[in-house]
Amino acid sequence: MVISGTQLAKEIKEKVRSQVEEVKTKYGRPPHLVVILVGEDPASQSYVKGKGKDAEEVGFKSTTILKPETISEGELLELIKSLNTDEEVDGILVQLPLPKHIDEEKVIETIDKSKDVDGFHPANVAALWQKMPCTYPCTPKGIIKLLDKAGVEIAGKKAVVIGRSNIVGLPVAKMLLDRNATVTIAHSRTQDLPKVTSEADILIVAIGRPKFVTEDMVKDGAAVIDVGVNRDPGNGKLCGDVNFEECEKKASVITPVPGGVGPMTRACLMENTLECFLKKQNKNN
Ligand code: NAP
Repeated sequence: MVISGTQLAKEIKEKVRSQVEEVKTKYGRPPHLVVILVGEDPASQSYVKGKGKDAEEVGFKSTTILKPETISEGELLELIKSLNTDEEVDGILVQLPLPKHIDEEKVIETIDKSKDVDGFHPANVAALWQKMPCTYPCTPKGIIKLLDKAGVEIAGKKAVVIGRSNIVGLPVAKMLLDRNATVTIAHSRTQDLPKVTSEADILIVAIGRPKFVTEDMVKDGAAVIDVGVNRDPGNGKLCGDVNFEECEKKASVITPVPGGVGPMTRACLMENTLECFLKKQNKNN
């Protein structure tokens, strides 16, 4: 079964949209998401455009702030601080990666935790690892929702996550652990990776290498979630980290690229923004 992230994302956004209608009446305004883009990287431009489009689709107020590549770290931090204190801003997202002269960690730390819709703030990360209430990072949250939608049992299963980045691999591994899977995190130094992955009931792949996971690496009947976004060196088309044609034959469920995790990440961003808005309104009332 191919799990359509596009379809599930549509359902999530529809639910957010109907909640936005209610909150507009109740609180007098819709949630407001601000996305900051530094520079002109085409991939980042396209991600930011997608986020703005989704925000408008669900009825949020959406602001995109474009800053030149030459903006200083200090100027960017000041901009974030002014958005932190703006009562009418509910979510702040700075599109990564940033130019080399800007310290990404400093930028993430400066975003007010209550407006951290990406779930990257150290306080949010710590809360996730301590099983405290937190904003879940969008991509891992989307992955868990895809597994649930496909009816994949997580508890008691062997899950292998390839990749240990702060934004995908580590948090999704923790979320699977919290759902009582037995989790192995594989990475570039893992010995005999096919042996490790071919024992996985659930295989999450977040590496960034086109069609890296081949048929021999997948257990019969496994659920395979492909997070990768790459260009196929052969035809230049968008492709994942998983060789879809080969692995589809063995997997019980599998996500496509495009149309899998990508749209789910954006839908979860909309959910997170609404959650941040509601938390603030409930605190103020
Ligand atoms: P990243 O920070 O570059 O991390 C890549 C991970 O893959 C690292 O942990 C690395 O291991 C591991 N790795 C690299 N080569 C490997 C190999 N040969 N065997 C085993 N592990 C290997 O990447 P990321 O930010 O997590 O992103 C991963 C992919 O997901 C990218 O294609 C990115 O574009 C995509 N992505 C998609 C979404 C979405 O919404 N669809 C969101 C975020 C990211 P080491 O730690 O040992 O170096």
